[in-house]
Amino acid sequence: MNVRVRFAPSPTGALHIGGVRTALYNFLLARQTGGTMILRIEDTDQNRYVPGAEEYILQSLAWAGIKIDEGVGPGGPHAPYRQSERKAIYQKHARELVDLGHAYYAFDTEADLEAMRQRTPNAQYDSTTRLQMKNSLSLPKEEVQKLLTSEPYVIRLKIPSNEEIHLNDLIRGEVKVHSSQLDDKVLMKSDGMPTYHLANVVDDFLMQISHVIRGEEWLPSAPHHVLLYRFFGWSNVMPRFAHLPLLLKPDGNGKLSKRDADRMGFPIFPLTWTDPRTGETSKGFRESGYLPEAMINFLALLGWNPGTTQEIFSLNELIQSFSLERVGKAGAKFDIQKAQWFNQQYLRALSPEILSGYLLDSLKKEGFACTPDRALKIVAALKDRVTYPQDFWEQGRLFFAAPDAFDSSAVGKKWTSDAVKVLHEYEQKVKSAPALSANDAKLMLEEICAAMGIKPGQVLAALRISLTGGMSGPDLMQTIEILGGMETALRIQTALKQLAVPTSNV
Ligand code: GLU
Repeated sequence: MNVRVRFAPSPTGALHIGGVRTALYNFLLARQTGGTMILRIEDTDQNRYVPGAEEYILQSLAWAGIKIDEGVGPGGPHAPYRQSERKAIYQKHARELVDLGHAYYAFDTEADLEAMRQRTPNAQYDSTTRLQMKNSLSLPKEEVQKLLTSEPYVIRLKIPSNEEIHLNDLIRGEVKVHSSQLDDKVLMKSDGMPTYHLANVVDDFLMQISHVIRGEEWLPSAPHHVLLYRFFGWSNVMPRFAHLPLLLKPDGNGKLSKRDADRMGFPIFPLTWTDPRTGETSKGFRESGYLPEAMINFLALLGWNPGTTQEIFSLNELIQSFSLERVGKAGAKFDIQKAQWFNQQYLRALSPEILSGYLLDSLKKEGFACTPDRALKIVAALKDRVTYPQDFWEQGRLFFAAPDAFDSSAVGKKWTSDAVKVLHEYEQKVKSAPALSANDAKLMLEEICAAMGIKPGQVLAALRISLTGGMSGPDLMQTIEILGGMETALRIQTALKQLAVPTSNV
């Protein structure tokens, strides 16, 4: 079979990270089978249209490395791929469906529909109610003809009254829905625009879609898909369905929402997005320092599992290993710490030159000079401690600016008179060794300690406080090597001057 899959977002706002996963699964299947990945923009709902959203979708997919073969962007044989530009196609198909007796014109006003709901609580427009309504099934032919020229009307799908509709979902297995649960969906609105129900299905057929891979929230509309394919006589080319499991919030069982992400302080959109309606800006994964390759790896495993313990997958490995059969039904927890772990792994695997480039970029912005060699050293010292590219600057600033304060609780515990004695000596020693190696720095400290009968372990924390202001940071001796003897000595002097000499232990 010629695999043709589509990602079919509606430009109603920023693409949610779950949408990126949907696009990714489509893309993986397309690449694995030598098939085609299509991007169709479903913009028929004018009320929900948000300017900039389509651009945003294209940029997000490009960032994620999800390449579109056909559709909005590259174009293709079924252009246009933007549904608002395909109105005539849907009109033609809707009329065809009326002629076939599977759809009908309806003239009900809002008040008529409200009256129906008043008459029968929970009533829906279907085989039990449609004959009481104003439509081409209930009204005489001549009246229908007249109304068609004088009144606004919609076209509704005529759902069969008593039938079990089956669909075989590649993830959920056999799904059965009784037609009595479905309503006569509007296919064409009075403004001549199709609804999702018609446009989505007609386009899947015309674009020869082989697999519909989409979020679980679209499962309820799958029976309409099946019915429409049958009514049009297309059943023999019905796409396979795969409804992906929900993404769940990290702490609990609910569906992951923007509110959860905001509450827990992580992004939900691939790229930074400013909502044109509210002006609210939400920081994206990209701007937060997530690498696209790491996000792809993380997202691939949210719902799909390879059946082995392998976690790190290059895109090519994902393409090789992915299968819809191994996508589970159960919701997948969006474990943001796992995303951070992936980011660390991918960041560490980058070349020293790329990593030092991140640092050099930040330094330039902050107005600090640094040789490429020194940047490489700093990056090597920090490499195992960073999660995001910007951490090289956050954690590396200590190499460019002396601490402006000392952590008082650390000082209280570790600034002992023994340590102070050693630091006085050490400062003298390192001052005269501008280019000392980490190993020299260590030997010097050990020598002084040995001569004073003090264990080096008792001094290290105080030395660190002098150099960094606190207790955390990269390897101490490497830090000294990078700072150099002069700067190390200066910082020790400052600390000795600013911090009171402890009276205990004297
Ligand atoms: N336009 C729908 C959406 O916004 C597409 C659903 C589907 O993939 O069929 O997600």
